[in-house]
Parts: sequence; structure tokens; C-alpha cells
Amino acid sequence: MKRIICEATRQETFLPRVQLAAMDRRQQLCPASFRGSPSVRRIPSPKYKLDFYIHTSFSSPDADIVLISRDNVHFRIHSQLLRQTSGWFRTLLSLPNNAPQAGTPDALRLDEPSSVLDALLRIASAMEVPPLRPVDFCEEVLLAAEKYEMPGPASVVRVALTSSLLDAPPVRVYGIATRRGWVAEARAASARTLALDLFHPALRADMDKVDAPHLMALLRLHHARKQALREVLDDKKLFSSSTKGTTQCFSCGRRVDHIDWFQFKYNLLVMATVPSDTEILNSGDLQRVLEASCLHCNKTLYGAVTTRANLGEALKRLPTSVDLS
Ligand SMILES: [Zn+2]
Repeated sequence: MKRIICEATRQETFLPRVQLAAMDRRQQLCPASFRGSPSVRRIPSPKYKLDFYIHTSFSSPDADIVLISRDNVHFRIHSQLLRQTSGWFRTLLSLPNNAPQAGTPDALRLDEPSSVLDALLRIASAMEVPPLRPVDFCEEVLLAAEKYEMPGPASVVRVALTSSLLDAPPVRVYGIATRRGWVAEARAASARTLALDLFHPALRADMDKVDAPHLMALLRLHHARKQALREVLDDKKLFSSSTKGTTQCFSCGRRVDHIDWFQFKYNLLVMATVPSDTEILNSGDLQRVLEASCLHCNKTLYGAVTTRANLGEALKRLPTSVDLS
């Protein structure tokens, strides 16, 4: 642990001059995420021409530790909070030389930006949780929670990531969930990918982040779903119209073909993804099939209710989520 005397206590004279000189001038800029926000207060330090920012929600005057974010925002807090919520800090602060002292708080510079520490400490302090979006930010907070062994914040992020309210990209959530062994969340995310063409260039970055075995599981799901749809549509017991060639009209007994049915099948099977049950059952192609009539007697060729019911039941049996067993 690298310990320095915190400039937030205005005891700058204890801060080694060489360390001050090494501080990048960029640190004097207000962090972009807090620019114009009342959450951060600028503290001028004319003696060393170095300004820094203190987080107004974590500015306790009797704090015994100061966490400094990568972008130089100071979080003055009580070490007890860290001991209670973080295994990493509990171990760190239990070392004999690292016990914090009230009045002369030690400062600890962390790798995370202030926005991530803000979210992490707010959750740990039972304050109002900030919006955990976009998904990149959500994952950053999760990684920090895991790094500092903070199960509370990690569980909040887990819920947020898999909540439909966040509407996070499903492939990205799938990658995050599978890496952590979150089976239920991974299966739910895989179900949300069904409407996506996994080979679309827009998804390449998210797909690249999925571990190879789990990526294969996702591809297998999409492939199995398409194969199952093909088998359903080819099932002559369910749909006699799938018989090649012509069949007898149920009304007049003359030979009829099933062009509309085969067109419906073809249009479905050439799609990059298998549409949802609702989309298929409400499609214009299916409507055309159900309205198709015999050229000879003009009676409809198919029982609309039975055909729709058979198709609906068969579609329900299509796989909808990955098998991670
Ligand atoms: Zn007929």
C-alpha cells in the first residue's frame, strides 16, 4: 500500500514535493463525468498551484481515509464503511501499519475513475443508486466491486445488468454473465439474442468479448432453433400441405398445389433469424396461406383455426435459451 498524506486535509507540506511535481496537470481539470455537477467541489490549493476536487457526498470532515480517484476526485469516508463492505479493504486496513487515524486521514490513490467510485461507494453506503448505464459503465462498476471484494455492490450491479429496465445489449450481458457462471442470467440474455443476427457487423465487438465455449453454445442455440423450425414446417403429420407435389382438395377432391404454403416456409427459412412465435403467427405470409383457396371449387384449402393452433404449439417447442449444462 502506497500511503501519502492527503492534500484534502490541507496538510500539503507533508506531501513530498517530488510527488506533487509528478502529478499530471490534467488532474487539475474537473472530471468530465462531473463537469457542472454539484457532486464535486473544486478546492484551490494555491501554495502548490494544484487544484483538486472533493466529492460533496463523501466529504466528511472527520473521515479517517481519503480515496482518490484516477481523475483526482477525493472521497473522504470512514474506514469502517470499507471494513464492513469490502474484503480487500478489510485485509488492507487490518495490517498494523495501515490502521487509519482520525484527524490525519491517509489517502489511497485508486485506479478507478471518480464515476465508478461514486457508484460503488453510493451502493455500499445505501445511498440512492446512480443510473448504471451504459453497459460499459455497469461492467466497470462490477469489475471494481469484484476487485475490492464488495459482494453488496456486485449483487446490485448483477440485478441491474440483467434487468429489462436497463435494456443492455443481450450479447454483452450474455458474455458478462457466462464469465461469472451466472447461469440463469446467461440463459435469459441468450433468449434476448434470438431476434439478432449474430453475424451482423454491429455485434462483432460484443461477440468478440464472449468466451469461446459460451460463444459456441450461443451459436448452437441459434442453429438448433432454425433446424427445429425446419423440422416443424416439414412435418407432414402436422401440415399435410408440406407433401411434395399436389394433394386432393378436401372439398371437391381435385388436385391442388400449395404454392402459398411453400412460399411461407421458404420466406421463414431464408431469414437470418427465426422470428418470434407472435411474429410468425401474425405474419402476412401466414395470412395468405390461410386465405388460399382451391382453384376449382373456390373453398379455402386449410382450416385456419387448426393450422394456426398446430403451428403455435409446434413453435412453442423450439429451443429458446442456451444449454450450459
Ligand atoms: Zn376444391
